[in-house]
Amino acid sequence: MTDVGVRVAVTGAGGRMGREVIEAAADRDDVTVTLAVNRSPVDAVAGVDVADAAKLPELLAESDPDVLVDFTGPDSSVEYVAAAAEAGVACVVGTTGFTEAQETALADAAASVPVLRASNFSRGIAALRRAVSAAAAALPGYDVEVTETHHNGKVDAPSGTALTLLDDVEEARPDLSDHVHGREGDAPRTEGEIGVHARRAGDIAGEHEVLLAGDENVLELTHRAGSRRVFAAGALDAAAWLAGRNAGTYDFTEVLE
Ligand code: NAD
Repeated sequence: MTDVGVRVAVTGAGGRMGREVIEAAADRDDVTVTLAVNRSPVDAVAGVDVADAAKLPELLAESDPDVLVDFTGPDSSVEYVAAAAEAGVACVVGTTGFTEAQETALADAAASVPVLRASNFSRGIAALRRAVSAAAAALPGYDVEVTETHHNGKVDAPSGTALTLLDDVEEARPDLSDHVHGREGDAPRTEGEIGVHARRAGDIAGEHEVLLAGDENVLELTHRAGSRRVFAAGALDAAAWLAGRNAGTYDFTEVLE
């Protein structure tokens, strides 16, 4: 393993995103994965040995990475970020599905190290968010529905990205705040409602559509991730950007700016 650029530790190295991050890092010279852990044993990924995640605190102290990149689950993410904060290691968190208490725990860690969180590390989604905010503001009175589609192994629903898009819509349209998840039986649309739909099928990396419909005017804004590599690339861009910054909470839009 060459050791150049920002030194990155990857948690959940055996997961879909963890693997993708390690493989993407192997193709770039601004970051190097110097530590990878997983909760269960897995073979080396792109030439990087994967250690036992239970030993993360000791391994962070030993290998002293610059940034930890976490795509795992909410419980483990909070635990790993706390360990990183203890070791003085910055964190890029892509995990989604946190409870409010877990969000607070992540914010606490940001008091001692830089923590950058994003429900989606794709540049296309960043552009979609801006387009959705502008469209929602420009089309008062329109009905809005958010639909996301992901692979059949995704745990949380709706996706973290759908929740982010809902926040964006609500900021532009404060009259819409009632999330209706799917519809069944007699379920006419009511005022103030935003329909939210989560589809799970095959190995789809991630699709998000925001539908804005008025009378005889329909606008559909859609983003499709062609592969998980786009998220891995964005997370590594974030890691390279975050290294050496002051403690605090950061957003992916700051990286893109
Ligand atoms: P995955 O199921 O393929 O992998 C999850 C990994 O986390 C595995 O290595 C698993 O062992 C580990 N893990 C899960 N729960 C754990 C626990 N309690 N303790 C220890 N390890 C645990 O999932 P994935 O598709 O790689 O997605 C991981 C997370 O990243 C999800 O929250 C997903 O929504 C999110 N995600 C975010 C983005 C983004 O751009 N921000 C993109 C894709 C996925």
